[in-house]
Amino acid sequence: MKILDRTGDQYKIIKHERDYAENLCIVGVEPYEKCGFRCFYCITDSQGKTRPIEPDLASFQKRFLAELADFESDRYLFGVSLATDSYNDIEEEWGYTRWVIEELTRRNRRYSITTKSPLVTRDIDLFQQMAPDRYKVIISFTASTTELANAVEPQAPSPESRMEALHTLHNAGVNACVLMAPWIPGITDTDRLLSLFPKGIAVFFQPVELGDDFEEVLDQQRPHFSASLFMGKEWTQNEINRAYIRECNTVGKKYWKDFNMEWRHPITLETHADRSGYLKKMRPGRYDPDQWVSEHPVIPARERR
Ligand code: SF4
Repeated sequence: MKILDRTGDQYKIIKHERDYAENLCIVGVEPYEKCGFRCFYCITDSQGKTRPIEPDLASFQKRFLAELADFESDRYLFGVSLATDSYNDIEEEWGYTRWVIEELTRRNRRYSITTKSPLVTRDIDLFQQMAPDRYKVIISFTASTTELANAVEPQAPSPESRMEALHTLHNAGVNACVLMAPWIPGITDTDRLLSLFPKGIAVFFQPVELGDDFEEVLDQQRPHFSASLFMGKEWTQNEINRAYIRECNTVGKKYWKDFNMEWRHPITLETHADRSGYLKKMRPGRYDPDQWVSEHPVIPARERR
């Protein structure tokens, strides 16, 4: 799935995304193209040299405000940089994300931010101006240490710096939560991560999707995503789903009362195709890993052809 829309030769800054409920439609605000953090598992087709979508702040502001006029309703929630990291490697220099948040804050518009960067703490003054139910700051983790994270995201800010940023945000009263995505067997040390997060926050889990088990690798949308390259063994989506359910049943159960946890559904061909895995949840003990996988087998794309 391509995140950005083209209109003629121009990318839109605000991309109409999808309706989740009668009063909620998430739209992406994209100040940048490509993402210099270049995580191996990235599913937004974004790895590359980060560049601003407009060459100067004044022209970016003009375009953004013109597009914003089409999104007056409060049913819109603005996902700031859905296709790149909100605080990517050039945000400190260019400042487009900060300006977008300033503008959304001034208008009291709902927004969410997802990032791996401690630069997010720069904007605490803006977050503190919003009611907690009008915005969300999401810090994403795949592992707790640089050593583990280097296997999948060597150019992203270290997990240690993210952990410090998370606590700084939490202590400042910011509505901060965690996205454990992608959850990767053998790399995501769930137990240790949960032991380090501030208690009581929301934590969302989502398992890694193997591009080479689905169609994308065939149509070149995820050409570099072959999990066996970095996970140390030939995993299949079925094995990942089994391990993920097992993790929910054990570690998820251990910390269930400490966090507002949301374990999104394991990946199936159906949820992969319509993205409904984002909406389906599981609780510890709900599924037997072996039984669930035998009832929802993912047959790799190459075997379905
Ligand atoms: S930080 Fe996010 S957008 Fe950037 S490469 Fe990693 S997964 Fe993709």
